[in-house]
Amino acid sequence: MEQKTTVISEAQLAQQQAACEQIKEYWMQQGIRPVAFVDTYGCQQNEADSERIRGMLAASGYAMTDTEEGADVIVLNTCAIREHAEQRVFGNVGALTHTKRRHPRQKIFLCGCMMGQPAVSDRVKHSYPHVDGVFSTHHLWEFPELLLRVLTTGKRVFAVADEAGSIAENIPVLRGNKLKAWVSVMYGCNNFCSYCIVPYVRGRERSRQPEDIIKECKEVIAAGYKEITLLGQNVNSYGKDLGLGIDFADLMAQVAQLEGDFRLRFMTSHPKDASRKLFDTIAKYPKICKQFHLPFQSGNDRVLKVMNRRYTSAQYLELVDYGRSLMPELVLTSDVIVGFPGETEEEFEDTLKLIERVRYDALFTFIFSPRGGTPAASMEDPTPKAEKNRRFDRLVELQNRISEEKHRSYIGKTVTVLVDGRDGDKLTARTDGGRLVRFEGSDELLGQFVNVTITDCTTWSLVGELE
Ligand code: SF4
Repeated sequence: MEQKTTVISEAQLAQQQAACEQIKEYWMQQGIRPVAFVDTYGCQQNEADSERIRGMLAASGYAMTDTEEGADVIVLNTCAIREHAEQRVFGNVGALTHTKRRHPRQKIFLCGCMMGQPAVSDRVKHSYPHVDGVFSTHHLWEFPELLLRVLTTGKRVFAVADEAGSIAENIPVLRGNKLKAWVSVMYGCNNFCSYCIVPYVRGRERSRQPEDIIKECKEVIAAGYKEITLLGQNVNSYGKDLGLGIDFADLMAQVAQLEGDFRLRFMTSHPKDASRKLFDTIAKYPKICKQFHLPFQSGNDRVLKVMNRRYTSAQYLELVDYGRSLMPELVLTSDVIVGFPGETEEEFEDTLKLIERVRYDALFTFIFSPRGGTPAASMEDPTPKAEKNRRFDRLVELQNRISEEKHRSYIGKTVTVLVDGRDGDKLTARTDGGRLVRFEGSDELLGQFVNVTITDCTTWSLVGELE
């Protein structure tokens, strides 16, 4: 399906601002300060979308609450990556009939990737009459108008047309974290990995203009944020659709040169598009964290081909070797799928070999689960579940051993960390490479970069002492 990017016009956005004002007026006339509950499922892109939904709600006069009970509007921002996650959403939506009965003016909206699937929005329309509105990710920017329509007409709204992917700038944002800011650089994906639903529900790749991204980064730095994560489904494709001669490495370099006390991360990368230039850029700028999340998914070339990943394990290793030659301290993390349809024991062993060779700092490990609507869902899958579980356990055991060895190698070293919270009697912080560090200290250190000497470790975290 051919799709082209729509840039939402200033006039269309002004219409949304006007809708926010009308919603405020609607509640003021009733003497009510409305409250909203936004619940997010899935990935960081959804978290970033939810921050915009909260921003639009705050601009419409809503205060945020952390429970469905008594909320005047509930927004469930859903994820379509796994089918069992979808079942959980439907279960939770069903349970909302009771909260709505107790609070009849409650309005319920569903949005996010699940709503980009026509079968899902149809099911909501016909089987969940207590849901007032549904919008897909393409229609997120229209939320104020949709909400206003529901409030003033009482009619249900469905904004799910499979439109060209859109880019809307200047939507209000209410960020969930005071230290770490997500900044989307692009939306959608063109890759069609055979197990993934994202390109079908989030549309084709479309990049934001570099000046809009830089402007947002400057704003969050000025607001005191200490960490910026540039976000996209496949950030390495950034700029290809703009025709400006700027790629993701150039964009990172521009952000890394902004004034201020912050560090810079990015996610997620596709190995076929990750360039040596990007590694050069990471090595060059002190503000860019020496961490790379580079999903390999399988260590076997036949499986990679059936996954439609379009790189070989040799090409992947070449990239990793290049990165490590520039930055021996580079923290590498990855995603891996165990038990892809037709994966043999030997092919699984190739995955273990690749893990041994790369020695990741951490892995996000998944047992294959078929996702309706993707090619992999109809592939022959003769491997019994018990066998997949056994492979999964072997892989996790291997990675846990490597993670612990890597953590042990930190003992005695001094690292700079960003203090981001408290867990019992210890402060929690993250290294440049994203490792969790616990140490004793006062709350005054929250939000600061400090040096900590590592004294001990577990598989999952480091223990240290403040310098
Ligand atoms: S790169 Fe592949 S796995 Fe990642 S979002 Fe695109 S299709 Fe899905």
